[in-house]
Amino acid sequence: MQDLDVKPWQWPEPYWRKRVNKVRAGKRLAPAWPSDKRCAFAISFDVDHETNELRDGGRSLGRMSWGQYGNRRGMPRILSLLRQHDVKASFYVPAVTAQLYPDEQRQVIDEGHEIGIHGWIHELNSILPADSERDLMLRSADMLQEITTVRPVGIRTPSWDFSDATLSIIREMGLLYDSSLMADDSCYELLEDGERTGVVEIPVEWIRDDAPYFMMNRFESLRPHISPDDVFKIFMREFDAAYEEGDIFQLTLHPHIIGYRSRIWIIEEIIRNAKAKGDVWFATHKEIAEHVGRSID
Ligand SMILES: [Zn+2]
Repeated sequence: MQDLDVKPWQWPEPYWRKRVNKVRAGKRLAPAWPSDKRCAFAISFDVDHETNELRDGGRSLGRMSWGQYGNRRGMPRILSLLRQHDVKASFYVPAVTAQLYPDEQRQVIDEGHEIGIHGWIHELNSILPADSERDLMLRSADMLQEITTVRPVGIRTPSWDFSDATLSIIREMGLLYDSSLMADDSCYELLEDGERTGVVEIPVEWIRDDAPYFMMNRFESLRPHISPDDVFKIFMREFDAAYEEGDIFQLTLHPHIIGYRSRIWIIEEIIRNAKAKGDVWFATHKEIAEHVGRSID
């Protein structure tokens, strides 16, 4: 929508209401899980690799080598761990990452995981013109399909950045779900301008993301501020409460952040704890969206 040429405190009520209502949470989707499972467990990996540096126009080869670590050590560790525990996950992959590492993406699909859209070069949607955002989103889906032969049905916007145009493009593309917004703990149906869309939201949260705890920038004040043991405790508390409520536990991780020797164990311990319950449904985001989507009437 058009920006008003006055300060926010001068905005008329209909204007700020319209902004707030652009994309909202509608009906909460928390049906019974399949096969009498008590809780759903949805683990995801955003395979950013070098695009975190590229999308800002960065030229640091040092920072880009972090991205290559994600491919060389992070992904093999993650895939091996998921294989070992027979857990299927969702991977959100920028089209540039997929072109850099097509074999990695084909392996992800071959091992039964899901790949979803994650931008072209991890661009921020809210600073793009709507037609560029649309063009990049369509081309990203085509590129992922060309490389893996599987058409993605879900999207996680890069950096969870959502523009006024994002949801309408998702609807135009006929995507089943988005996983970038945070209005609930449970899945919900997205509303656009107050209207139902039939699009499922599988909500994320920075609390359940490795990046805010572990990212660092040598030349800025950003430093890891919490130990891997403490991050594990936070994730476990999120899981335990989701299990008690019979709801969904959703986690967002990054190969170039979690894939280190001193951190990878966090995933394994959470999976072990969840498996020990005996009635947790391990599913991809796509499977969860298909399941909860059936309760949209
Ligand atoms: Zn990302």
